[in-house]
Formats: sequence, structure tokens, C-alpha cells
Amino acid sequence: MQELYKELGICEEVYKLSKDVLDSLELRFKEIDKITEYNQLKVLKAMQENKVSEACLYSSTGYGYNDIGRDTLEKVYASYFHTEDALVRPQIACGTHALAIALSANLRPGDELFSPVGKPYDTLEEVIGIRESKGSLKEFNITYRQAELNEDGSINFDNIKKCINEKTKLATIQRSKGYLTRPTLSVKQIGDIICFIKSIKKDIICMVDNCYGEFVETIEPSDVNADLVVGSLIKNPGGGLAPIGGYIAGRKDLVENCAYRLTTPGLGKEVGATLNVNSLFYQGFFMAPSVVNAALKGAIFAANIYEKLGFSVFPDSKEERHDIIQAVTLNSKEAVIAFCKGIQAAAPIDSFVSPEPWAMPGYDSDVIMAAGAFVSGSSIELSADGPIKPPYNVYFQGGLTVNHAIFGIIKSVQSLYDENLVKIS
Ligand SMILES: *Cc1c(COP(=O)(O)O)cnc(C)c1O
Repeated sequence: MQELYKELGICEEVYKLSKDVLDSLELRFKEIDKITEYNQLKVLKAMQENKVSEACLYSSTGYGYNDIGRDTLEKVYASYFHTEDALVRPQIACGTHALAIALSANLRPGDELFSPVGKPYDTLEEVIGIRESKGSLKEFNITYRQAELNEDGSINFDNIKKCINEKTKLATIQRSKGYLTRPTLSVKQIGDIICFIKSIKKDIICMVDNCYGEFVETIEPSDVNADLVVGSLIKNPGGGLAPIGGYIAGRKDLVENCAYRLTTPGLGKEVGATLNVNSLFYQGFFMAPSVVNAALKGAIFAANIYEKLGFSVFPDSKEERHDIIQAVTLNSKEAVIAFCKGIQAAAPIDSFVSPEPWAMPGYDSDVIMAAGAFVSGSSIELSADGPIKPPYNVYFQGGLTVNHAIFGIIKSVQSLYDENLVKIS
């Protein structure tokens, strides 16, 4: 075994360190397996309840009228999330698009959008108009307000109360930390926030940006009264197989508004051909609990090995997980680049190329991204990205198999070690 690792560029010191860390994680990994077992059964139940048949695996073309595969898949998502309805479509280009649809479909001029958990994900700043942008909600006279978190990243309920006013129409709650080091919210915490908001003004629509959170716990935000949950199919629920897409699950009237926004008023859910993606959407959703299991184990391994090497990690090595993202504070631009080069070198696709920082649309600093993915840009596959700005955090996520997720992290450590950016004692 060690010989093969050596052929793949892993030296003895790094190999031994990795083995030690992995050996210490056996019990932790068993806990993850329990959650996966539960969620696999939940997915299976949702598929059986809705009588997914072989015919559902075929796809439509053209207008896509009466696409039984698409319509049944939306019922499967609604069953899994325990919601009235869902929209699951290849026409949703990415997670940001899904969120933008949910917001613009359910807000009207004069309404106010509210984030109770501080700053939203970078790409939403332009959707909302926090950073000036053509076509933003702000251009349509939809205002925005956010409740700042406490210094330690915890929720400030006083701030939330102060922000809610007669215009507040929709609260957007981001589950995952995104490019921040605040803690990711647990589903229970999301439930507390929703309960608090609704106790002040009961008709506020509570939407959760569920990106990277699906299948990490045994309940989803829709189980704690979220009116809408939104995510990307090239993250957790696509199971690595969905080649594109997004989902919105929730209250029937709100999902209907989303369908009218995605296609057109009047047409809504009736149109939207699935081309050849239905079977991949089903199979990906079926595989997703296992894929998330692999990603979580990779993240926990990363937290433990980098903490041992003296870096700050979020979440830390012992903390319970609420999403699949692992942040490591690497303290220098060089270390962020070396980390990402290591992840890239571990990939099945494009392992021979070297990632460089560049100005990506939607982000306000240069970003370096490492991904050698079967689906371009898919971050449920082993991937790492870091904005090139202090404190030089790198965000690592994904891994379709446990062994690959772990190998990627080992390779990143090797890359830092080769550049003398870490010491192994
Ligand atoms: C990835 C992500 C998004 C945006 O998704 P894209 O598919 O990159 O557009 C939004 N919110 C969070 C928390 C995310 O992680």
C-alpha cells in the first residue's frame, strides 16, 4: 500500500501522519454511517411512495409537456423534504440561479428582503444589489436589510427583532458558512431562527439556502418550518451524477411562483424539457446520501490532520457537522495556492494541470479553485477554493468516494510539505 502511495507522490512522513490521523477517526466515521443509513432509507421511501418507474428514467424534448419523469422527480423531492411541492429542473443553471428565482418570484416592489444571519453568499450580493448590478432586486425597488451576528458568529436575536418591520416579506437564511468563518447553522438553530421570526411577524416567508447541507443531518430545514429550501444539483443532492440543475422545495403557492419566474407566467411547471437528464437526476439523488458520507469523512479527516499541523480549522476536529465544507486558515497566499495544487494533483480528471488565482464573476477578490471533476465546476466532487485575501482561508469540499476524498487531503498536505510550508514532527 505504502509503495503505491509513494508512486502517487506521497512521502513516508506524510503517509505515516495520515495513517495515524485516520486510525483515530474510526468512531467518528461510524456516527456518520448511521446518518447515511437513515437518509438512504428516507430517499428510498420517497422514491417508492411516488412509484418511480422505468418510464420515469426517459426524458422529454421540445416543450416537455407531460414529462412523467420530471413531474415524478419533483414529487420525490417534495416527499424527501416533507414539503407540499418542489421544482427540480435542468433549466436552473446553478445554486445562485435557484436562489435568485426563489427571491424574485416571491418578492414584489416595495417589499424588503431580510437576512437574519449576516452577510449572504458572495454571488447573492449582486442578485440583491448589495453590490450594484444590472437587474438586481434593488433595481426593482426591493430593499434589503441584514441582522449582524455576534462577534463569535452566533445569532443575535435582538438584532433580528430590530430589523423586522412592516415591509419585511421574506427572510433568507443561509445554512452553510460559504466564504466566511462563522459556524454553519444546524437545522435546529435554523428552526429556532424561523420560530423567532414568525413569532414577531407570522407571515414572513422563511427561505433557506440549503447549499452543501443536504443529507448531512437526518432532518432538513423544511422539517423545522422553512417555507422554501433551495439548492444546487451539482452539490449534494445531485450525488455527483447530475450534470446541471437546481431545486426549490416548499409551500405550494411559493413554488408555483418560482415556476412562473423560471419559465413564464401562465406556463409555470408545465413546460421545460428534461433532455437526457432524468435518469441521472434520479440516480444521483439515490446515491447522494453515500456521496455526502464520503465528503463528510474527507472533511473530518482534513480538520483533524490540519489541526494537528497547527492550523486553525472550521469546524474544528471534534465539532459536529452541519455541512460538507471544511475551512482551513492557511495564513498565506502561498499556502492557499499549494493546498489547491495538491487537491488538483489528486484528481481523476486534469490532474496534470495547475490551478491559478483569477477574477471570477460574482466574487470581489481573485479566487483560486481546484477541481478535476467529471461535471465541470461540480463541488460535490473533490474540490477546493479560496479567495486570495486575508486570513487566507481555503474551503475544501466534496469527494465522490471516501478513499478519494482522503487521498486529496493527503496530497494537499504533501504539496505544502514539498514547499516547506508545513513541518511534520
Ligand atoms: C454554492 C453556494 C451558492 C451558489 O451556488 P452556485 O451553484 O455556485 O451558483 C449559494 N449559497 C451557498 C451557501 C453556496 O455554498
